[in-house]
Amino acid sequence: MIPFNRPFLSGREIEYIRQAHQLGQLAGNGKFTSECQHWLEHKTGCIKSLLTHSCTAALEMCAILAGIAPGDEVIMPSFTFVSTANAFVLRGGVPVFVDIRPDTLNLDEARIEAAITPRTRAIVAVHYAGVSCDMDAIMDIARRHDLLVIEDAAQGLMSTHKGRALGSIGHLGTLSFHETKNVISGEGGALLINSADFVERAEIIWEKGTNRSRFFRGDVDKYNWIDVGSSYLPGEITAAFLLAQLEQAEPLTAKRQHCWQLYHDLLEPLEAAGVLRRPVVPGDCGHNAHLYYVLLAPLFSRRAVLKQLDDHGITAVFHYVPLHSSPAGRRFARSHGTLATTDDLSERLVRLPLWIGLEEQQQRFVVKVLGEALHVL
Ligand SMILES: *Cc1c(COP(=O)(O)O)cnc(C)c1O
Repeated sequence: MIPFNRPFLSGREIEYIRQAHQLGQLAGNGKFTSECQHWLEHKTGCIKSLLTHSCTAALEMCAILAGIAPGDEVIMPSFTFVSTANAFVLRGGVPVFVDIRPDTLNLDEARIEAAITPRTRAIVAVHYAGVSCDMDAIMDIARRHDLLVIEDAAQGLMSTHKGRALGSIGHLGTLSFHETKNVISGEGGALLINSADFVERAEIIWEKGTNRSRFFRGDVDKYNWIDVGSSYLPGEITAAFLLAQLEQAEPLTAKRQHCWQLYHDLLEPLEAAGVLRRPVVPGDCGHNAHLYYVLLAPLFSRRAVLKQLDDHGITAVFHYVPLHSSPAGRRFARSHGTLATTDDLSERLVRLPLWIGLEEQQQRFVVKVLGEALHVL
């Protein structure tokens, strides 16, 4: 049996949780939270990071920081996870879906400008598979139209665009440490702040709308309800687990890249035979091998291919049902222009098993069965 995913454990998670237990602070914003945040700031170059209990929570914080009010529009792809849209809908915002590029499956920067209206407030750049959007073009459009850029870098820890960490390029960025991502804490996430204007308010929103962070630093002599906010911070047990993972981020990324590259090499003949297309990584992106997908040629039934893999004990999976065609997407959002690429590619995409410990023979077997399903091996 070859599962789709198997969470990686660094080995020190329990030791760090034991340390948190001994320190006696189990609520959030303690020693381990602070160490994780320093690690993220050092690694990504963001001004300030705040751990959250999920990437969803970090996106909700972005919507508050962006001042999204009812009717405000936020441009984003439809080919993304629900939280990218939900975070803004919760504040009355309207997601405006724009089609994706056929090569990277990321927001098509050439279609953004036509979707801008007087109500547009922000652009959300989702880095699918840890492969970067064209951030130069997106930042340039945002500058000219005075919009905020939020990077949904849920899948992008350890990926770069022109040498800069994903999540550190837009005004705000978000990361996920959900069990399915590269670096995990079960559920978990982080907000990356790249514009000094947001730092103070972000800490307040994070700590239930209070200035408790400033109080703990000794900047103020009592803490107060200052603004809207919620409880967005994880407890120290989660942060302790996460620190053990972050410390291994480099070697574990290298191991994933090794698996990714092996698939890429083994699948080359299938691409040459015209039965599938392999992922495209632009030259200015250093990617983290978050996932390996193939796009089946239009004549194949994806359902039949997945079934054949499953019959051989291989779990391969599709990905997003585009948000514009989901019930809530129709109710809360609108689309700008055709989403033909989103509709087409989302129906042909298959993600292959990729996890640390996956063996070369197993990968060869996956490719063999896939080739048989596509009648070329
Ligand atoms: C995983 C993911 C999220 C949500 O992350 P959580 O930590 O589970 O909230 C959001 N956006 C994208 C693109 C994701 O892949």
